[in-house]
Amino acid sequence: MTNALEIVSLNKTYDNGHVALKDVSLNVKKGDFFALLGPNGAGKSTTLGIVSSLVNKTSGTVKIFDYDLDRELEKAKTCLGVVPQEVNFNQFEKVEHILVTQAGYYGIPASEAKQTAEVYLKALGLWEKRNEPARMLSGGMKRRVMIARALIHKPKLLILDEPTAGVDIELRRSMWKFLQEINDAGTTIILTTHYLEEAEELCRNIAIIDKGEILENSPKHELLSKLTKQTYVFETTPPLSKAPELDGYDTALTYDGAIELTVEQGRDLGTFFDAVKDEDWKVLGIRNKSNRLEELFLSLVSSSQDLNSKEQTK
Ligand code: ADP
Repeated sequence: MTNALEIVSLNKTYDNGHVALKDVSLNVKKGDFFALLGPNGAGKSTTLGIVSSLVNKTSGTVKIFDYDLDRELEKAKTCLGVVPQEVNFNQFEKVEHILVTQAGYYGIPASEAKQTAEVYLKALGLWEKRNEPARMLSGGMKRRVMIARALIHKPKLLILDEPTAGVDIELRRSMWKFLQEINDAGTTIILTTHYLEEAEELCRNIAIIDKGEILENSPKHELLSKLTKQTYVFETTPPLSKAPELDGYDTALTYDGAIELTVEQGRDLGTFFDAVKDEDWKVLGIRNKSNRLEELFLSLVSSSQDLNSKEQTK
């Protein structure tokens, strides 16, 4: 089956000698919803910059729907829509005009572009703003204009770099719903995010990159099954002033008097409740301390940092 994106042995050394990517290989299947995760400086934007031909690679190959960027760049570009992190349209242009101008770069006639623009501007809640100069729009609206613009030539692969950074929760949810709908309709989506909740909610496959190297590239459910421990927070009434001593459990107290309990994956929590049933406080609620992907991510990234620091001290 054709891959939407195929990256083989990609390397990037910037002019100042900084090695940003080391032998990165990745496949993203057609129809996938894929997340590229990593801490700041990991190499996510460099990877996406090379895929969208804004950054020159040092070596390696990149294919978009089988079109090699070195040999069939124009064909590859027609398959690809990119939403960069920073707003990069002319803020004095009117919203609909931004989309129609973009379509022109792909040879799409204005009449056809206007029809597509109407579909996406309506879907993204921007239709009322179509005749306003973009600078009049809120930050969240500008970001949605970027998404509509990236979709105007109906690309088969949409790449979004941190699509919901700085966006409030409500808008984030509505953007997720929109992205899910276009993925259901057949568009392959790749996003970078540092909201791990976003990757856990939306994506089927996930790659984790750190210091220019891919640490993991697996289906989300496989990644989550690698979690060996989970931390739960038990809210109690009354809030506690000291972590309780419970046989067989390591407990800690949060700043607001809730119990923090780290347990091995798969361990029966029933024994915890047995242990607390005679205490003079009650459990009011339970939640995960962080989302599951975040726990895994932190354990992977910190173990790679441990390795690197050991290497440096050799
Ligand atoms: P991310 O998107 O994961 O935050 P980047 O791809 O932006 O990471 O950066 C990867 C590494 O390359 C970082 O250490 C960054 O400082 C470095 N880098 C990025 N752009 C340049 C550049 N133009 N010149 C030199 N180094 C760069």
